[in-house]
Amino acid sequence: MAFENLSERLQNAIKMFRGSGKITEDDLKAPLREVRMALLEADVNFKVVKDFVTNIKERALGETVQQSLTPGQQIIKIVNDELTQLLGGTQSKLTVADKPPTVIMLVGLQGAGKTTTAGKLGSLLRKKGKKPLLVAGDVYRPAAIKQLQVLGEQLSLPVFALGDQVSPVEIARKAMDKAFSLACDTVIIDTAGRLHINEELMDELRNIKAAVNPHEILLVVDAMTGQDAVTVAESFNGELGIDGLIVTKLDGDARGGAVLSVKAVTGRPVKFVGMGEKLDALEPFHPDRMASRILG
Ligand code: GDP
Repeated sequence: MAFENLSERLQNAIKMFRGSGKITEDDLKAPLREVRMALLEADVNFKVVKDFVTNIKERALGETVQQSLTPGQQIIKIVNDELTQLLGGTQSKLTVADKPPTVIMLVGLQGAGKTTTAGKLGSLLRKKGKKPLLVAGDVYRPAAIKQLQVLGEQLSLPVFALGDQVSPVEIARKAMDKAFSLACDTVIIDTAGRLHINEELMDELRNIKAAVNPHEILLVVDAMTGQDAVTVAESFNGELGIDGLIVTKLDGDARGGAVLSVKAVTGRPVKFVGMGEKLDALEPFHPDRMASRILG
C-alpha cells in the first residue's frame, strides 16, 4: 500500500513535538525537518514541500492556543488540515450534464491504466444508478479494443467499437448516437495513449474534444511514476485542458508523491484512485479521509 513509509515518518515527526504552553519556533525545528524529509522521500515536488512546511510553521506560531487542545494536539490538527488542503480540500465530484449524456473522456500515457479504468469507472457509475456506454477509442494499441470489449462483457456494460480503421474522432461522434439509441446517460471514451507525449497524440485528443465537447476530461496517471506523473499532468493540462485526475496503482508500493503534489502544481484535483487490478478497485478520492489515513 502506498504512503506506508510517509505515514510512519509523519507520525514520528508529530511525536517529536514536545512543546508545552505556547508553540515556539524552537519546538518546531526538528519535527518540521522530519516532515520535510518524509515528504521529499515520498517523491513530493520540492516547491510543494517548501510551501507545505511554511504553512504549518506560520499557523503553528500564529495560532492562539486553544484551551481545549494541548500544543501537541494542535500540531496534529494543523498538519491534518494542511495535508487535506494539499490533497485538494474537499472531494471533487464528477460534473453531470444537465442534458444527458454526460461525456467523460479518459486520456493518458500508454500503460497508465486507462482502458481498465474505463471499465472500473463504468461499473462504479452504474452502481450509482447511471447507464454508461464504454467507447473503444484507442485504435493504436494492439488489443485495446478487444480488452475493452472483454471488460464490457465481464461487467455487463455496453461497448461501442468500430474497429481500428475508423478515426477516433468519428468513433466518438458516432458513440453519441449510440448512447441516444441505447438510452445511456453516461459515455466513457477510452482514448489512445503513447509512450511519450507528442504533438500527434495531443492533436488527436484536441480533435476528439472539439467533436464531442466532454463534460469531464480525466487524466489517468500511474502513481508508480512519481513526479513524472505530475509533469505529465502539467503537459496535458496545458495542451488539452483537464478537469481532474485518476491516479492508478496506489495499491502498489508507490511513494504517493503524485497524489500529494498534483493539485498544488496543476490546480486540478484527483477525483478517483485505483486501488488494485480488480474491477471494483476504483474509489472516489476523499482528501480528508486520505489525510486521516496517512496520519493514522
Ligand atoms: P492503458 O494502456 O492506459 O489502457 O492501460 P491498461 O488499462 O491496459 O492497464 C495497464 C496495466 O495496469 C494492466 O495490467 C492493469 O490491470 C493495471 N492496472 C490498472 N489500474 C490498476 C490499479 O489501480 N492497480 C493495479 N495494481 N494495477 C492496475
